[in-house]
Amino acid sequence: MRPVCVLCKREMRANKNGRILELLSPSPEPYQLWSGDEWKCDICGATVIVGYGRAAMFDAHANPEGYAKFHTYEKSQDNVVTIEV
Ligand SMILES: [Zn+2]
Repeated sequence: MRPVCVLCKREMRANKNGRILELLSPSPEPYQLWSGDEWKCDICGATVIVGYGRAAMFDAHANPEGYAKFHTYEKSQDNVVTIEV
């Protein structure tokens, strides 16, 4: 089942696979990087990220070097959405 835009009452379309979500906790400390799929509403342009795996790709506490390297690369591709949790 696809995500639905409540405002437009339409199914969204897949916009980008492998969108990276960065969690900061407590801000501005790096915490985790997750990979999900971005969906978009063609009517209003709203986007959401859903469909994460079962675990974070990188945890800054468990693997700081891997986290930093992956984050730097994905950031250079403008593929990171950062939120505070
Ligand atoms: Zn919409």
